[in-house]
Amino acid sequence: MSHAAAPVLVIHGGAGVIKREMSPAREKAVRAALTQALQKGYAQLKSGKTAVDAVAAAITVLEDDPNFNAGKGSVFTHDGRNELDAAIMDGATLGAGSVAGVHRVKNPILLARAVMEKSDHVMLVGDGAEEFAKTVGVDMVEPSYFRTEERWQQLQKALKEDTEKVKHSDVETAKHFGTVGAVALDAEGHLAAGTSTGGMTDKRWGRVGDSPIIGAGTYANSGCAVSGTGWGEYYLRTVAAHEICMRVTQMRVPLRRAAAEVINQEIPSMGGNGGAIALDGNGTIAMPFNTDGMYRGWIGADGVPHVAIYGDEDDGTSDPLPSDTSSSQF
Ligand code: ASP
Repeated sequence: MSHAAAPVLVIHGGAGVIKREMSPAREKAVRAALTQALQKGYAQLKSGKTAVDAVAAAITVLEDDPNFNAGKGSVFTHDGRNELDAAIMDGATLGAGSVAGVHRVKNPILLARAVMEKSDHVMLVGDGAEEFAKTVGVDMVEPSYFRTEERWQQLQKALKEDTEKVKHSDVETAKHFGTVGAVALDAEGHLAAGTSTGGMTDKRWGRVGDSPIIGAGTYANSGCAVSGTGWGEYYLRTVAAHEICMRVTQMRVPLRRAAAEVINQEIPSMGGNGGAIALDGNGTIAMPFNTDGMYRGWIGADGVPHVAIYGDEDDGTSDPLPSDTSSSQF
């Protein structure tokens, strides 16, 4: 049930940040981009626009910034291509749109939105999605637009490690970071969620992760919105975003506890890792992650953008759980 609300926007720029690999310059650039995404998205909310508008605006900023694994700066597949995935969901209507495996769409989140609003479908993939893109007038680019040297070098490293059969947890972590996402609560009390990614470095055979799969990496309903980031295969099998929201809206588990249970208990217990951002209809924020860091930010009633990267930074949710921190019955 919606009601007038103080707008809130929460964003992430991916889990899996490795502190020792962050240069001061990169850290500064990331913080600036997160701040800009918050400001752009929040401006939508302040002017009375919808949660969907805010999510799309914030994610577009991050897709355009090469520091994130979404849009420009996406990771490379095993075959040296960029294949992009994105999804958006409107919690007020349960409308949803997603695209996977696109390589010419400048802002996949805008195409996902067009799928939601201008097609009879929920998910379009590959060439078909790009044909649809041309009919709705989203910006198309040459595939080379997405390339950055840094991502290319990450692929070369991963290919070398494949050959040497190196097995090290950091290798797995380094394959997925920089996915972007947003969740928003608008003045009408409506929620929305969106996620955009290049997926995982060295992915093969048309692999699609959780981000564009409604319920796995992205989900919103009338009382909860979630965008995940992490090792997608685990988010798919736990249907992580939907799982968090069902605990919140059906089982009445407090948001922070529900999010922590899925992200910090269920996923690691299966061998996966990552994080998520979540928001409920009261404007409660959760940002759990089990990696070194997660690029994240939020903006609420005071209109001041807050950003954080590492686990030891106070992000305002460090007292996340009600006094009962034990797992719920799931
Ligand atoms: N979840 C994304 C995927 O598996 C990657 C990420 O979030 O970093 O495609």
